[in-house]
Amino acid sequence: MTEPRLSAALQRIAPSQTTAMTDRAIELRAQGRDIISLSVGEPDFDTPAHVVEAMKAALDAGQTRYTPVGGTAAMKRAAALHFERDLGIATDTAHVTISAGGKQAIFHALLATIDPGDEVVIPAPWWVSYPEIVRFAGGTVVPLPTRPENGFRFSAAELEAAITPKTRWLLMNNPGNPTGAVFTAEDLTAIAEVLDRHPQVLVMSDDIYAPLTYTGAPHATLAALRPDLADRVLTVSGVSKSHAMTGLRIGVATGPAWLIRAMEKLQSHSSGNPCSISQAGAVAAFEGPQDFLADWRETFRRRRELVVSRINAIPGLSTPVPQGAFYCFIDASPLIGGGIADDGALALHLLEHGVAVVAASAFGGTHCDLAGFRISFAASEAQLTEAMNRIEKAVAAI
Ligand code: GLU
Repeated sequence: MTEPRLSAALQRIAPSQTTAMTDRAIELRAQGRDIISLSVGEPDFDTPAHVVEAMKAALDAGQTRYTPVGGTAAMKRAAALHFERDLGIATDTAHVTISAGGKQAIFHALLATIDPGDEVVIPAPWWVSYPEIVRFAGGTVVPLPTRPENGFRFSAAELEAAITPKTRWLLMNNPGNPTGAVFTAEDLTAIAEVLDRHPQVLVMSDDIYAPLTYTGAPHATLAALRPDLADRVLTVSGVSKSHAMTGLRIGVATGPAWLIRAMEKLQSHSSGNPCSISQAGAVAAFEGPQDFLADWRETFRRRRELVVSRINAIPGLSTPVPQGAFYCFIDASPLIGGGIADDGALALHLLEHGVAVVAASAFGGTHCDLAGFRISFAASEAQLTEAMNRIEKAVAAI
């Protein structure tokens, strides 16, 4: 029998490796295997009680109907408050939209604006879904390789060299997944000067990890530093990472009104509105107390120290100290070759030893001559310690 035909667009993309590895870990656990999953970026903390209460109240009040496609008025106001208070971006509800996770906002923004032949500059290592969404939309991915010794940040000159007349977007992620790269206000000012010379380039700034920086400096973002670029910067954020609400799927975005309208036009035909109950929870998340975030950040900082010191003590593995988010991007090149053909095989080897990770190649590591894997340190110290013991044993067994 011939294979059913899939669209050319679908054939251009690969499945998400972060979600695939996590699904695999869940499957193995269901079979009774003892697997520690460090594959997905998901805080292990409980969703704050006031958020849960707000969702219960919304259910009791019968808020189970459609909402406006781009979110309720209350949700848009709460998102605007978040952008202004937490990211320093002056905005209003006409410039804000809500979607089923930040991923959907990015998906709609790129699908709404990319034509075949358009180039999209993506700093590598990158989050798995950026290049796949670009390819699905028919665009051409232009990798902008970064190096651990530069904190995985690109320079203004490197960006300038990657831009051509066909460049439609620059996709930024600050703090960065999978590397923990953090761009300073100075870095972004220099990047903005490059953008000034290329007015056709739109910028997507994915700031979902903004509350999680360990540098001590306040979070810097392009739309706040350079409000005059507002007509071409889309800033994406959410509650998944900051308020441990991953499964509730709420992402928020702010940008030029024309782009917000285009994203909502597409959303009106894809999912429609984001979940009404999750929106009620996200309103409470943004409007409620934020003080617990400092405690969470300190917990993540301790975990970061634990994994960085353990990983760097294992022969063949090395990682710089991530400056933000909750990932370590680990170079394991000395272990590749011989029995372990590539970093996909290394990830499977680690899975055999009871730890789920995601291969560096899934994040475009090859563009930076890096082979290895990413771990998420959004797990308890006890779990991380056991995971490090297993990784140590697995590496010794190679
Ligand atoms: N963004 C998280 C990660 O990188 C969640 C999974 C995903 O959507 O990729 O692990």
